[in-house]
Amino acid sequence: MLRDWQIQRRQHDGLEIANRAKIERKRENAYIVSSLTKRKTRYTVIADPNNPTCTCPDHEMHQEPCKHIYAVQLLIQREQDDKASITTLPQVPRPSKPTYKQNWTAYIAAQMNETNEFQAMLYDLVQNIAEPERGQGAAFSKGRSTTTGFRPTSKNRACRRSCGN
Ligand SMILES: [Zn+2]
Repeated sequence: MLRDWQIQRRQHDGLEIANRAKIERKRENAYIVSSLTKRKTRYTVIADPNNPTCTCPDHEMHQEPCKHIYAVQLLIQREQDDKASITTLPQVPRPSKPTYKQNWTAYIAAQMNETNEFQAMLYDLVQNIAEPERGQGAAFSKGRSTTTGFRPTSKNRACRRSCGN
């Protein structure tokens, strides 16, 4: 029996082999796995669900699933997942034409609402600007009256200047 850490290490290595090593399918359940550690070394994995075998020394010695068996199992699992995703794809609702049109109408309506809102905002803005303008106008006329009130002062200043000279 293999210890837990030994199994975990084989599973870990198996994942690396599944990702990086070359795995060829020869027959149903028979795979040729290239070794990642030994160049030009290849092992044959028989992926029998009840009794998987490998030709590597590790499996021959322990008679337990080796990293190559785990790699092939991962590969088979991935292929099954891919097939599963392909078969489930058509079940995803496709946007039909009426929904598309409706969406556009809603989009255009939203755009128009936005324009209306913008115009309303602009109107408010103009109204707000117009208010202080009227106020400024009043202030301006007031200012004029004060300028008239200053006239004597400027006359006085001129007088003072001439008187001073
Ligand atoms: Zn092996």
